[in-house]
Amino acid sequence: MSELKPTIGLEIHIHLLTGTKAFCGCKAHFGDAPNSNVCPVCMGYPGALPALNERGIFLGYKTAKALGCALEKNSIFERKSYYYPDMPKNYQISQFAQPLGTNGIFEFESSGARKKVRIHECHFEEDAGKMIHAGDMTLLDYNRAGYPLLEIVTEPDLHTGEEAEDFIQSLRRLVRHLGVCDGNMEEGSLRCDANVSLAPEGAPLGVKVEIKNLNSSRFVRKALGYEIERQNKAIAQGKTIIQETRLWNENRDVTESMRKKESSHDYRFFPEPDLPPFRPDAAFMARVDAEQVELPLARRDRYARAHGLSAEQAEFVSEERDVAEYFEKAIALGADAKTAAAWLSGDVKAQLNRSGGKLSECPLSAERLASLLKLLASGRIHAKIAKQALQAVFDEDADPEAVIKAKGWELLGAGPELDAMVAEAFAADAKSVAAVLGGNDKAMLALIGAVMKKSSGRAEPGALRASVEAKLASLRGK
Ligand code: ZN
Ligand code: MN
Repeated sequence: MSELKPTIGLEIHIHLLTGTKAFCGCKAHFGDAPNSNVCPVCMGYPGALPALNERGIFLGYKTAKALGCALEKNSIFERKSYYYPDMPKNYQISQFAQPLGTNGIFEFESSGARKKVRIHECHFEEDAGKMIHAGDMTLLDYNRAGYPLLEIVTEPDLHTGEEAEDFIQSLRRLVRHLGVCDGNMEEGSLRCDANVSLAPEGAPLGVKVEIKNLNSSRFVRKALGYEIERQNKAIAQGKTIIQETRLWNENRDVTESMRKKESSHDYRFFPEPDLPPFRPDAAFMARVDAEQVELPLARRDRYARAHGLSAEQAEFVSEERDVAEYFEKAIALGADAKTAAAWLSGDVKAQLNRSGGKLSECPLSAERLASLLKLLASGRIHAKIAKQALQAVFDEDADPEAVIKAKGWELLGAGPELDAMVAEAFAADAKSVAAVLGGNDKAMLALIGAVMKKSSGRAEPGALRASVEAKLASLRGK
């Protein structure tokens, strides 16, 4: 039998950062007291009418645009009817016939290679509440019911669990850069359903199985890996794969059957009678355009190219938008890009890990990093002092310039202060002076060492040597 090729498609739900729910004014916020953010609309009371959250639909269009989708001029909302205890209306307002974006493409990187995944569509919809199973009872929290979601549906263009994991990580980075979603998978802000089927290369796609509600990219990889193996074994044993929905059991590392899969006609989609179509005008579309950002992958490539950064460094400074903006600001202020990237991904990161803070809020502002790196580049401090100064900036919330002045860490270059120290060392060690003058060059090291010690290591080695040699020359000339 020929090798079976897995084909994977993903549906990713992202919580849009609107502050309020999709069709009512309730707060959309994770972690509040259960059932504290509810009203007749999101609780599905009879006669309550939905009103579209324009910010939500805007963030949806903005994301669809970044994913290269064609944007719908006449977005239609539909009711998707099904019963579930966490959905008080017994239907979900979603989009079916004319979602806000279709036919996009997203480029990402997996195992060092560029991959393109086609985006089938992006649609706006509301989230359901949350069921909390506790022993033999189930608790219901409707705070999440009506939370605005964008569902991003890919074409089946992925083939391994690793690829799917990398895709989700890249998409997460994108939505965070766009500022449309916080990407907190552990809080359910970004959730993934994955479907997978097996078929011989070139043959029509096999029967697909959907794995629902994966809330970490690692689970996506592990669940797909497990499911591909399970289907391979079943097919090898002559069993048929049935179209079904399965759940990932993270305690047992297996997928388990949940229900036989419905098809879309089971949901009785029909136009939502209480919401008119959304028709974005030119001003709305202009705002969507104006809020586009450089895609994270493009930004990373640009950094690597323009500044000669290593792959890891370019990755690090482009991973989060606030870090990228900080990095660009430090360069604009005169910091060397390569050194800045090395420091950010090295010592600065270590400091932040220790203090647990964010770069944008830490005592080392972009101005301070630029100032510190310029002190280093100009030779006013050496590398070891620069690291001490970094520590002091974090500890004391002070400017690098002030720190090195206050602590006397500035290198001692050529000048009267250094010459005076050299004269003092000559006076204190007549024996070494006589030895050098008698032809023993090595004795000079004792003189240099004495000044270095006297200056607490701040004497700039080149300047020190020059001063010692000048002093010797003047003695020889006498
Ligand atoms: Zn509400
Ligand atoms: Mn959905």
